[in-house]
Amino acid sequence: MAYAGSRTMNVGTWLLPEDEDAFDLALRDTFPGAAWRCSQPGPLGLHPVHLHGSLANAMACGGRGVQAFLHLPIGASLPSTVALADGVPLPDGPPVAAIVQLLRSTRRHDPGGTYCDHDAGYRHPEGGAYFNAGRLAVRWFEDEVAADTHQVLLRQTRAVRSVLIATTRPARIKDQNGRRLTGYRIGPAAQAMADASGTLLGRTGVQRFQLG
Ligand SMILES: [Zn+2]
Repeated sequence: MAYAGSRTMNVGTWLLPEDEDAFDLALRDTFPGAAWRCSQPGPLGLHPVHLHGSLANAMACGGRGVQAFLHLPIGASLPSTVALADGVPLPDGPPVAAIVQLLRSTRRHDPGGTYCDHDAGYRHPEGGAYFNAGRLAVRWFEDEVAADTHQVLLRQTRAVRSVLIATTRPARIKDQNGRRLTGYRIGPAAQAMADASGTLLGRTGVQRFQLG
């Protein structure tokens, strides 16, 4: 654990939108009240943020999806800064105590990791394309929440992680020198894409990985 008193989950992920959908469906099987907050560009308060009924809707809101957030405890009451999307029931749980981030995996290219999920007319440079890892992450500080809330957060974080484990696979990957990297998860659709296209997998930094 990186910080004293903090509880952290941080799993690196390679997911395509289909993989995100499978994760979200399984999550809502476990937690019918799970709803996702969208993320909007610009400073806080510039664009309204909403609680959406699905991860896909949260990712699609406000243009290119970068990330979405799940409030813990699941079903936490709505913060005043968040509006309800159409058809989403008003959650009536306790206040938000922690926030799970699903950062989306992105297509990028080297050198420099330039983002390249641009509009269809964008011309990719030759070579250097890779699929950059996203993450499923949450962190809170034990001494900043009530003891019973801490237990709920622990339990729900484990459950959310279990849903990710159930709907993805361990990424079996190696770098250019054959060194393995462990601990990352990959969705079936992302794996099929990387297999079929030979797209390298990446993360922050210069290492790139192949399946195998
Ligand atoms: Zn929205």
